[in-house]
Amino acid sequence: MTPRVTVYEVGPRDGLQNEAVTLATGDKLALVGALADAGLPRIEATSFVSPRWIPQLADAAEVTAALPRRSGLAYAALVPNARGLERLLAALAARGEGIADVAAAVVVSASESHNLRNLNRPVAGTLAELEALVPAARARGLPVRGYVSTAFGCPYEGRVDPGRVAEIAHRLLALGCAQVSLGDTIGVATPRDVRALLGRLLPSAPAAALALHLHDTRGTALANVLAGLEEGIETFDAAVGGLGGCPYAPGASGNLATEDLVYMLQGMGLETGVDLGRLVAAGALAQRLAGRRLPGRALQAALAARGG
Ligand code: MG
Repeated sequence: MTPRVTVYEVGPRDGLQNEAVTLATGDKLALVGALADAGLPRIEATSFVSPRWIPQLADAAEVTAALPRRSGLAYAALVPNARGLERLLAALAARGEGIADVAAAVVVSASESHNLRNLNRPVAGTLAELEALVPAARARGLPVRGYVSTAFGCPYEGRVDPGRVAEIAHRLLALGCAQVSLGDTIGVATPRDVRALLGRLLPSAPAAALALHLHDTRGTALANVLAGLEEGIETFDAAVGGLGGCPYAPGASGNLATEDLVYMLQGMGLETGVDLGRLVAAGALAQRLAGRRLPGRALQAALAARGG
């Protein structure tokens, strides 16, 4: 049996929220449709954060209500607070019966300064909020995915203690998150850091309950994927074309590009269910909509090879 790896697409949310352009709702849905056509099993589609904070995702309700239904495909939407959860539930009601294919995603940073800048409260305050929010989402039938941001390094504090990250990840799992994704928000991790953090978590958390959310800012994302695979991790986040950039380093790569991840996994004989040719088509669409050359290397190589 071919080992299976889950590619968790975050471009429509994590990518677009960090792009300068704001896409029309129809263009966002076209991008989601292209990603669904490529066979991605998980797509984080939008965020129910206040439009005052992230105007690019102000149409979260319209996007959610119109997400295409595909067997084997599940979505997620970021939910920062109780108000966001209510907005997500209203959008799902507008979408009609069967909400089982949309998960709520929640986020907390491992470093105090990043959490303060990002969520406007200390880490303990966010965890206290999540203590109510995660069970509330689950009680309404939504699976919940947790993110730990700055899991390897913080733009304000530097290196982050893996013991602290492990503690927060365990807390999210104990609250009822089905999976916790460990985010290298500023792309500083190396394989040794990945092994060190997973070494703290895997003795007490199943590998399926963990994911890696890697950024390629310094070119280490795929090396870190390999380290994760070797430790038993089965889920990796990525954004089509490397959509999103890095908010802390203008011009630098942010999210690992989905095409780069899928190219490597397929070459290693790992089954993803993703059609790389169709994924490149989605990447070409993302690039056209973003209005800039996207950093994904496998995307650019494929486009160059076809003379486009
Ligand atoms: Mg990211």
